Amino acid sequence: MVVLIKKRGDILQKCSKCNRHFRWAEIYNSFVWSYKPIECNKCGTEHRITISGRFTCVFLIIVPMLIFTNFLSPFENFFVTLAIGLSLLIIGSLLTPFFVTYREKL
Ligand SMILES: [Zn+2]
Repeated sequence: MVVLIKKRGDILQKCSKCNRHFRWAEIYNSFVWSYKPIECNKCGTEHRITISGRFTCVFLIIVPMLIFTNFLSPFENFFVTLAIGLSLLIIGSLLTPFFVTYREKL
């Protein structure tokens, strides 16, 4: 898992103008605030999330949680199911910055 994250870290989204890698936190902040544009802090170019990036967010964050809470939960207890559903949501959101794509604002 750690190796995977390290490897993906090398291919975190880059600024399309100056090739600076965005930091994980910058991307995370962006989609937490409903896909706020990311501004490169080296050259100031604004980047917006792509349509496929938005779908990626939904698939990584919402879908696993819904599937688990609706179909896969082995627990009778609603609160246990809810807690695990929320954990999945958090894990999904933590991984999302590695997979979303941003594009320079035109
Ligand atoms: Zn830049």
